[in-house]
Amino acid sequence: MPRSLLHDRGFSRREVLVLGAGAFVAAALPFAGRRRRRLRRRTVPMMGTVADLSVVTDDDGRASVALDAAVRALRLVETSMTRFDPRSDVGRANLGAAAGPVAIGPETRTVIEHALSWATSSDGAFDPCLGRAVALWDVTERDAPPPDGSWARLAGRRLYERVDVGLSSDGLPVVSFADPDVRIDLGGIAKGHGVDRAVRALREAGIEDGLVNVGGDLYALGRSEDGDPWRVGVRSPTDPASLIDTIDVEDGAVATSGDYERAFLHEGRTYHHLLDPRTAAPRVTDVHSVTVTGDSCLHADAAATALFGATPGEAARLLRARPDRLALRTTV
Ligand code: ADP
Ligand code: MG
Repeated sequence: MPRSLLHDRGFSRREVLVLGAGAFVAAALPFAGRRRRRLRRRTVPMMGTVADLSVVTDDDGRASVALDAAVRALRLVETSMTRFDPRSDVGRANLGAAAGPVAIGPETRTVIEHALSWATSSDGAFDPCLGRAVALWDVTERDAPPPDGSWARLAGRRLYERVDVGLSSDGLPVVSFADPDVRIDLGGIAKGHGVDRAVRALREAGIEDGLVNVGGDLYALGRSEDGDPWRVGVRSPTDPASLIDTIDVEDGAVATSGDYERAFLHEGRTYHHLLDPRTAAPRVTDVHSVTVTGDSCLHADAAATALFGATPGEAARLLRARPDRLALRTTV
């Protein structure tokens, strides 16, 4: 979609940039003579990007109940896990957890635990506690780097090791920080979790075929309206009009992390949103886009972020060491 058209429809700059994201549904190739079922689609602004949900069913009532439930599931994840709202679980933790334990919901706890486990298995390449550095770089709003050195004191701190997740004396999940610089940021994993939750809501509403795509992190349920597996395209980082890969997916997740969707250019250098925790600055690498496939969008999302900038050998080792049955699909 041309940018001007998006602007006409009232999308913000942030959403326009993210619509350039990695993976999306490429046009299905209709099979002559095969009966196409009906595809219902809904698009809503979500998690700083756009959620695009589709269900394949001839039952109108079921389609709308299912889409409502899926959007509600996504919204719940957004509401509890955004770092932009001081009332969310993550917002309250970031305000108070350096002073003492802060109660969080069980689902936020689970996502934080998965994020910390990705931090450990990636030896800190994935660090969900770098919210301060992420906020400093704020690449969707900036057009020049933050003042020299403002981020240097956050470099190499392994802040994920300074978070405790546990239970309060009355058995409620709590989080506390052992370092005042910890700020939880689930931006690299929560969209994937939201996709998984939305897919569960669709299934519970009786949908067997459908697709949930939140800014390039997606899950394809069953088959497309043509009866074929969903065909997912991975956009070229350098030419948004062309594809570097197409993946046929049936009951599976695809997640992409790229340096081209949220970034600014300054004096010939691209500053993107994927930080290297060793420098607390955008990772310097020749890689522009990483796509991971698997059964769980949460894990595929975290993996795509964790593996951005890893060598193929490092990536293979990391995925082998994890139980999530993920595969590295493309790195360009
Ligand atoms: P997208 O938001 O485009 O889907 P990702 O899933 O790769 O991209 O997540 C990028 C987000 O993750 C950043 O916007 C930031 O919030 C957070 N982040 C950046 N660097 C790291 C990192 N090294 N480890 C964990 N999270 C990160
Ligand atoms: Mg990710």
